[in-house]
Amino acid sequence: MKTAFITGITGQDGAYLAQFLLQQGYRVCGLIARRSTDTLWRLQYLNMDKDVELIEGDLTDVSSLIRAIQQVKPSEVYNLAAQSFVGTSWEQPITTSQVTALGALHLLEAIRLTDPSIRFYQASSSEMFGLVQEAHQSEKTPFYPRSPYGVAKLYAHWITVNYRESFQLFGCSGILFNHESPLRGIEFVTRKVTDGAARIKLGLEKELRLGNIDSKRDWGFAGDYVKAMWMMLQQAEADDYIIATGKTTTVRDMCEIAFRAVGLNYEDHIVIDPKLYRPAEVDLLLGNPLKAKQRLGWEAETSLQQLIEMMVEADLRRVHSMI
Ligand code: NDP
Ligand code: GDP
Repeated sequence: MKTAFITGITGQDGAYLAQFLLQQGYRVCGLIARRSTDTLWRLQYLNMDKDVELIEGDLTDVSSLIRAIQQVKPSEVYNLAAQSFVGTSWEQPITTSQVTALGALHLLEAIRLTDPSIRFYQASSSEMFGLVQEAHQSEKTPFYPRSPYGVAKLYAHWITVNYRESFQLFGCSGILFNHESPLRGIEFVTRKVTDGAARIKLGLEKELRLGNIDSKRDWGFAGDYVKAMWMMLQQAEADDYIIATGKTTTVRDMCEIAFRAVGLNYEDHIVIDPKLYRPAEVDLLLGNPLKAKQRLGWEAETSLQQLIEMMVEADLRRVHSMI
């Protein structure tokens, strides 16, 4: 039986990846950072909280990572932990760098010191493209991050590449475009919109305040994307891959889909609030996932329409159960 160790197991992707790896017959272990509130809700939602082994530690504390890896003895490590919200990265740029950038280095060092044969996955992000230098972003497109989060992810990406080239570690960087699900954090725009549409439909709210709804994102379903992470670590050689749908949609059109799903017109409820605009915006993200298709045999399976409808349905159920 193979053992996987996941940082960020309590996050959206961590929960879906743990579910996928358990289905593949893995022993699944995860790092859990100490928090004063319950962070197990996603693992409980997928009914898996009893099936994974949780080890206490923090990405900013390299000694906890070394101890965890010595204890778990994984053959694959997935680094999904991060301060992952772009908006917060302007409010907490230093924490973001410590967790999202240096955290990856801590984990690579822990692997190098304990067992360099471990295969390593780094959760890189399309936010590294920022002010995009090509209309379709591929593995060869130059980076131009636009937020402290994007800058931190770029460090983590390059240190993964560097450890592969310097120490022959099997390190893969998956450059994933935005991916969402009913387990997405409420601060991200898709969940904010699907939750808002559900609340308005059920009469709890009248309006939903948003920032820039003209930006475009290449949105996919997290459940599809975690398979690509695993596929990268099963290849003969470590490499970097774009994971995306290859389609882009404005926030405005995503709102239209969400409100239509509950029989409402988004224009009657969305209020634009300039306070929600960002100091620097990423206007367009559109990935070219050709390499992943050709080399991994991976393709996005869920359309944006299906994804948003799935999220609206889950939010309607959740909000309804709280009334
Ligand atoms: P989430 O925000 O849902 O999950 C982040 C996870 O990191 C949580 O489990 C959180 O723990 C954990 N974490 C935060 N700080 C620390 C720390 N100091 N030590 C240990 N664990 C910590 O993110 P997603 O699941 O959406 O994303 C997974 C990864 O993929 C992230 O690295 C993200 O930046 C990246 N990514 C995501 C994309 C997306 O669209 N979802 C796109 C591209 C990249 P806790 O629950 O306790 O807070
Ligand atoms: P990101 O691509 O990682 O920044 O994902 P988000 O879901 O946080 O944001 C996607 C886009 O939606 C960005 O261009 C935001 O500026 C835009 N947006 C507009 N209004 C909001 C809002 O109220 N919350 C968030 N999170 N994003 C918003």
